[in-house]
Amino acid sequence: MPRSVLLTSLQMLELTTPVQYVKGIGPRLAEVLATKGILTTDDLLHYLPFRYEDRLNPRAIAQLRPGEMATLIAEVRTSGLFRTRRMPIFEMTAGQGRTRLKCIWFNGTYLQGKFKPGQMVALYGKVDVDRSGELQIVQPQFEILGDPGEEGASEATEQKLAASLEVGRIVPIYGAAGQGRLTSRWFRRIIHAALENLTPNLSDPIPAMVRNRMGLICPREALWKVHWPDPGESLQELQSSRTPAHSRLIFEELFFIELGLELKRREQKAETGIAFRLDDRVRGAIKKILPFHPTTAQKRVLREIASDMEKPSPMRRLLQGDVGSGKTIVAFEAAIIAIENGYQVALMAPTEILAQQHYFSARQILENAGYRIVLLTGSLEQDRKQKVRRHIAQGNAHLVIGTHALIEEKVEFAKLGLVIVDEQHRFGVMQRLKLMKKSGDADADNRTALESTGGDSRPHTSLADAHPYTAAEPDVLVMTATPIPRSLALTIYGDLDLSALDEMPPGRTPIVTRRVSDERSEEVWEFVRKQVVAGHQAYIVYPVIEESEESELKAAIKMYKEMSKHIFPDLRVGLLHGRLDPDEKENVMKLFQKGEISVLVSTTVIEVGVDVSNATIMVVEHAERFGLSQLHQLRGRIGRGAAKSYCILMTGGKISEEGQRRLDAMARTNDGFQIAELDLELRGPGEFFGTRQAGMPSFQVANLIRDRQILEAAKREAASVLGGPNSEISQQEINRALCHMRTRWQYTYGLVEVG
Ligand code: ADP
Ligand code: MG
Repeated sequence: MPRSVLLTSLQMLELTTPVQYVKGIGPRLAEVLATKGILTTDDLLHYLPFRYEDRLNPRAIAQLRPGEMATLIAEVRTSGLFRTRRMPIFEMTAGQGRTRLKCIWFNGTYLQGKFKPGQMVALYGKVDVDRSGELQIVQPQFEILGDPGEEGASEATEQKLAASLEVGRIVPIYGAAGQGRLTSRWFRRIIHAALENLTPNLSDPIPAMVRNRMGLICPREALWKVHWPDPGESLQELQSSRTPAHSRLIFEELFFIELGLELKRREQKAETGIAFRLDDRVRGAIKKILPFHPTTAQKRVLREIASDMEKPSPMRRLLQGDVGSGKTIVAFEAAIIAIENGYQVALMAPTEILAQQHYFSARQILENAGYRIVLLTGSLEQDRKQKVRRHIAQGNAHLVIGTHALIEEKVEFAKLGLVIVDEQHRFGVMQRLKLMKKSGDADADNRTALESTGGDSRPHTSLADAHPYTAAEPDVLVMTATPIPRSLALTIYGDLDLSALDEMPPGRTPIVTRRVSDERSEEVWEFVRKQVVAGHQAYIVYPVIEESEESELKAAIKMYKEMSKHIFPDLRVGLLHGRLDPDEKENVMKLFQKGEISVLVSTTVIEVGVDVSNATIMVVEHAERFGLSQLHQLRGRIGRGAAKSYCILMTGGKISEEGQRRLDAMARTNDGFQIAELDLELRGPGEFFGTRQAGMPSFQVANLIRDRQILEAAKREAASVLGGPNSEISQQEINRALCHMRTRWQYTYGLVEVG
């Protein structure tokens, strides 16, 4: 990367050149661009138009039809602000020869003085008719073409260039940046300049074999055409990012992500693991413990796991399954395979109370068969802890159940063979890889160092690293209760093999889900009372903890007081929220579990909760405020027993269209995978995960919903590139691709250690 080298406009731009050296940018604007994640020329050139306007064939006003979306170029005639009783409206009349078109903007005060008569403007919007039957466009997007007062426009050549970039062609429209300071027009000129100064030596990092198979155009052509499409390009393909130029750039981005993930998988597999034996004796042992007939999905998933375990390379598998899909028994079956082979198993849960729950079910199911199970959690008394640790170290304990602290504390296993992580929540590949980086390589030297760092939080998968006495890498099975769509799973969990439990065990009474306006809350409370009197328990969930001045949202604390004093003075009401300290939380949960609390007022902290099969009713207030996956996760707290369960989604006030779709989906289906798909569609990948830190790689040009098929292809091609000596690709090309991939991962994701 050029450091202090000042580039003049004559020097060519490399993709890695910082944007400040692109002609027309400079250090101050570079800072603005940085807020959009645009740091290098490469980033700038991948800042794609979100829309294109056909200004090659702009429409004549005379031919416009109500209802259509249209681009037109016209001359400003008059403009002004009208104050109506309800709001100020800005009106501008544009003309072509003798025809005219009215454009209006509600609350358009900000447009005063913007248009000058005689200016040419490009307009884009939906054509409709006003009350008197005249054509108009309401709130059109507009661009003033060649505003004479504009900076730099004094040079005649500049003006000509600007004009040619704005009319007489298909024109890219970019999102503005810096609070509107960097306009779409600005991006257009800057990106054009960057493309013109781009180095001619732009090599293609994608191996020729892949390029040919996928029919990809070369990078330079793709970059040019994605910004400046040929006149003949299909507008529809452009708008849907399906031109050859788009496909090339999207494929490239996904290909190098998948290449990194594939390499990671292969590296993990190349480590020495344990080849467990799965003979009739072991099969018999598994059969003996099964309290019921496994579902088809459970059988399939166990086959996948068992086949991994038989291989000499370490298993790294993710088991996805909705709450209640029966993951526990699958985990126990896997545990038996390891134990019957003479190894120990660690099962880790995210909270103490969940660890305890696993402990109880493990004892119920496994203890009769003679397996020795211990629970190791932070709250155990010191002596007890010591004793348990000794059991583990001497190999007396077969199955060790605990919280994630199992990997943080220096627990010594005699012979650890399988680690099962019950994650409940999503834990993305980026987090996993970052944590792995933190814990260093799995070589012996680092292990000693690691041991001394004690409480440092480590990834689940590094349990073996933290444990110097195991020669071979134990198998790892990660379980998650939040189903995610396959396209996301492929990237987020791209370093793991995937299994899905997509079938519920038989005999479930589906949860009845109803939407109710909060005007009918009294009926709802009456219903809750009836259920409780009949011996059941209820959750009542609120979106916030404390009420604030501005917000009218009902808050958990206030509603707790209300419930215990006025609504259910005769029932035992409890309160649970995230600001309680962990001990208090555990305590409340325990009381609820024991049935000593019958109505639990709570925030979403119960999302990751315990099994209380007696809880058959859940009321969610302000349900419109919750994300779809979150609602589904919450609902998973009920419907765990034989009794019929009810989920009541209360809503207050006006609900957005998207909110309606979420609530409808909740009422329509209980299938977590379907819900996840819809949630992803409604919110997009970024929000689906809440934050970037949730472990999603952030994409420059790809969109996981739109580009699923390209993603699958990228994954397949990445695997084929690393596919071994007989593939039709030279080592040199592979090396170049890997080198490019590492650079990308380093720049884009801040990860150095991939590959
Ligand atoms: P989760 O996937 O949420 O961990 P669990 O493993 O706790 O689900 O299973 C939920 C309930 O379903 C448990 O009570 C379990 O005993 C029961 N269950 C699991 N598999 C079956 C099956 N094949 N047939 C009948 N009941 C099953
Ligand atoms: Mg479970």
